[in-house]
Amino acid sequence: MRGDVPLHRSLLLRVLAVSVLVSVCSIAATAWLTARSTTVAIRQEQGQALADDARTYDTLLGYAATHPGWGGAGEIVRQLARDTGRRVTLTTERRVPLVDSDSGPPAKLPDQPTASIDPLHVDTVLAAASSSSGTAGSDASLPQAAVTDHIDPRAVGPFLLPRKERDTLRAAAERRAACLRGTFGTVATIAYSPSGRPVLDTGGARPYSESRCLSTVLDRPTATEAKALAALQKLVDSCLERRHESQVRLNLDFTWTRLPSAAPPQAADDGPRGSAVPDCVASSRREQLAPYVAPPALLFITSRDGGDASTAFDLSPENQARIAGVAALVLLITVTASVMAGTRLSRPLRALTDAVRNMEEGRAARVEVRGKDEIGRLAAAFNAMAERRERLEELRKAMVGDVAHELRTPLSNIRGWLEAAQDGLADPDPDLVSSLLEEALLLQHIIDDLQDLAVADAGELRVHAEPVDVADLLAQVATAHRGSAEAASVTLATRADGRLRLVADPVRLRQAVGNLVSNAVRHTPPGGTVSLLARRADGEVVIDVADTGNGIAPDDLPLVFERFWRVEKSRSRRSGGSGLGLPIARKLAEAHGGSLTATSIVGQGSTFTLRLPAHGHAREA
Ligand code: ADP
Repeated sequence: MRGDVPLHRSLLLRVLAVSVLVSVCSIAATAWLTARSTTVAIRQEQGQALADDARTYDTLLGYAATHPGWGGAGEIVRQLARDTGRRVTLTTERRVPLVDSDSGPPAKLPDQPTASIDPLHVDTVLAAASSSSGTAGSDASLPQAAVTDHIDPRAVGPFLLPRKERDTLRAAAERRAACLRGTFGTVATIAYSPSGRPVLDTGGARPYSESRCLSTVLDRPTATEAKALAALQKLVDSCLERRHESQVRLNLDFTWTRLPSAAPPQAADDGPRGSAVPDCVASSRREQLAPYVAPPALLFITSRDGGDASTAFDLSPENQARIAGVAALVLLITVTASVMAGTRLSRPLRALTDAVRNMEEGRAARVEVRGKDEIGRLAAAFNAMAERRERLEELRKAMVGDVAHELRTPLSNIRGWLEAAQDGLADPDPDLVSSLLEEALLLQHIIDDLQDLAVADAGELRVHAEPVDVADLLAQVATAHRGSAEAASVTLATRADGRLRLVADPVRLRQAVGNLVSNAVRHTPPGGTVSLLARRADGEVVIDVADTGNGIAPDDLPLVFERFWRVEKSRSRRSGGSGLGLPIARKLAEAHGGSLTATSIVGQGSTFTLRLPAHGHAREA
């Protein structure tokens, strides 16, 4: 179609592009924000859950290390469950329930236990988590061997010192700390290993002449320790013997010294068989400690409702597909809504464009008005404009025809008489001359009227304003029309309320009122009355010209002010004037800052009302 909007400029496409852009941006922003905050929240939750799990594990491990069975662990388990808000269940390695924090029906345990609790085979990962999370009760003075051989340092078994020996050792440690402080000014703190043995911590400072503060009591094993160490030594000896290894001497902290006499020539500490000694020490320790610690157990940490407590941010393919699906749905809805909105928006605009084109081509141009929104109002305004344009166009055409017609009749009369006189058919006597003069005057009248209108249209109507007595003015107009009124047997009456004055151009005003009176007299049947009334209303002077004539139909009333418009379409000059009287009268009223309106009842008469500002707002010449 001619002049169609190219696709990239189409309103619909633009609306669509903008809304898709907006929705993509908002989906992306929302998704990013949600993912970010969820990830942070989940990470925090996971971190908390891990810390809680590690603490539970460590506490239960401590219990197992110091108790030969799980019989008394119920209270600890319940306390842990209360603290962490989880369900804590302990079973044997064959999943026979041992302790459960909830008294309800046995939980459906997950396939994988959270951890296995065995103080003789410590899970180093969980142990590290518990010590790094700061919840562990692990002692700072653990012997190095304890961490590497997977035996919980709290499992001390026969090395646990009786109260008497502890007191003796504590006294010796305090004496030594006092000696260090007194002699070297070193501040030593006393810590206690899980077995109850005091350990002096000098904060890294190790005076080389520490020998002055030596304490034989503190450096030697107590009777209990000596007995336990001897038993352990025996186990290690037999283990090494089985492996054909040279003998070693164990120290109290489970380090060892090789006996020089027995060193086989080929056995080096770091040789392929070098791991035999630590293996033997570890296995012997386990053998020695086994009766003192609780049997291995499985730990299950689940949520209260029995489900797996593990929280993981699940961005599995299904979830990704779901997110993508929702985004696509949102996009689809946006696109559909935009297409609908865009179509609704562009359809009336297209109709308007078509109507304008019709108008250009001189065809009737109307748009269907729908709704009261901006576009509906635009369509209504367009229709009103188109209607007015059509009427003006018709008037213009009619006016040219009318002007030609109005001028032709008097002109052809004049020409006819003059030709007849020339041919000697008519005698140019005074009667003929005055008749010709009358026609010429009529021509002059029409041309003057047309010129007045043209001047008024150009806004150049000259008004010579001066004080005017309204009653005098009405009397003058009445006198001027009395002759024609009497000829038509119409009574002319004038009345003015009080002494009314106004500032106006008396000649123009007489012309305007005169036009109204001449119309009234012409349209009033014999025996009727034409009254001229002047009064004051709202600071204005109002002049009514009322007649008892045949009236004007309501449909015609607004049209009487159009140029060359007549109720009687027959253009007989006897029934009417030029058809310019009322438009000129209205222009004159407007030039004075006033207005001219008409009311009429068919069969009863018409009233033309001229309103003029009393103090004159006339456009001065
Ligand atoms: P015209 O020269 O024909 O009177 P006007 O502009 O003065 O032109 O009037 C326009 C038309 O309005 C007249 O032709 C007549 O039909 C109508 N009209 C004007 N005044 C009256 C009136 N007082 N009573 C009835 N019809 C009137």
